[in-house]
Amino acid sequence: MKYIDEFRDKKICQKLSEEIRRIARNTKREVVLMEVCGTHTTAIFRSGIRSLMPNNIRLLSGPGCPVCVTPNRYLDRAIAYSRLPNVIICTFGDMIKVPGSSSSLEKEKSNGADIRIVYSPLESIKISKENPNKLVIFLGVGFETTAPLVASTILSSKEEGLTNLFILSAHKLIPPAMMALLDSKDIAINGFICPGHVSTIIGIEPYLPIVEKYGIPSVIIGFEPIDILKGILMLIKQIVNGVQPKVEIQYKRAVREEGNPTAQSLMNKIFKKGDTEWRGVGIIPESGLFIREEYSVYDAERNIEVCVEETKEHPDCICGEILRGVKIPSECSMFRKVCTPLNPVGPCMVSSEGTCAAYYRYGKE
Ligand code: SF4
Repeated sequence: MKYIDEFRDKKICQKLSEEIRRIARNTKREVVLMEVCGTHTTAIFRSGIRSLMPNNIRLLSGPGCPVCVTPNRYLDRAIAYSRLPNVIICTFGDMIKVPGSSSSLEKEKSNGADIRIVYSPLESIKISKENPNKLVIFLGVGFETTAPLVASTILSSKEEGLTNLFILSAHKLIPPAMMALLDSKDIAINGFICPGHVSTIIGIEPYLPIVEKYGIPSVIIGFEPIDILKGILMLIKQIVNGVQPKVEIQYKRAVREEGNPTAQSLMNKIFKKGDTEWRGVGIIPESGLFIREEYSVYDAERNIEVCVEETKEHPDCICGEILRGVKIPSECSMFRKVCTPLNPVGPCMVSSEGTCAAYYRYGKE
């Protein structure tokens, strides 16, 4: 396929991995690179890139799967809303199977709740118009890539005068989570594989504190095998050669230094930053996006009251530690035995971008 095959060429991949090995030989220490984005985790596993790495380069998965980092408290609220008689829940498909404290949206749907899978938040506008006597709640889960679309949905609702569409917002920002991991000192990270999609929106600016304050090289990388190997090579060169850490863009065909200013201003118009909870990590300052006061009529939490059950976590699921990069799925006692994609116990096994799902499908621990 034109424009895809060029980025999967075996000979080029081989050359790049040889170059990575050659440079990695110049250091005796272990180099830990974290891929922050769940799409990278899956792409790295699918293309076998871990097996091409020399022994002293370790690739670690981080907290970049939006479904995985959404805490049970949010899911329990969504489930409680779905039980109300006059509510339609609109959600992306990967949320539906995620277990909450005692149920999931899938279970509620099979019990008769009106839960609809949509491919874009804009579809919920059509659903609201078709159901003027119902309250339509869109589950706004995602990072900087999803937030502008949700912002645009709110603006369109306002223009169309809709009064029955609401957003349950759990949007999160990636760079504050990267800094929280560095602050926690749970793991020593030597370089970040920064998310390509998110960076098309935010550009390089939000990553600058990671290099300036923490001295950690960061490269924005695409999702094809050659992108990933090239990006790893750029990181290894920075680390092994001991140059001043910097943010570099490997994924230049999609990412500009300034990102997408239109999407940024749309996001800023509708949302404001605030502290929010990440599964496994806890509250991260200024890492969440909350609907501004001026648009609060679209905020489900502020407008639709519901009784939410007390949050419980499965005692044996270690998703939290996996999301922090402290443990890997094979260290979970339920991995493959009890917890599988058909019977997921935690969110990291549900989402196609989840680390447990990637290990299950492609990994040899
Ligand atoms: Fe949780 Fe399942 Fe992953 Fe274990 S294997 S951490 S139970 S999602």
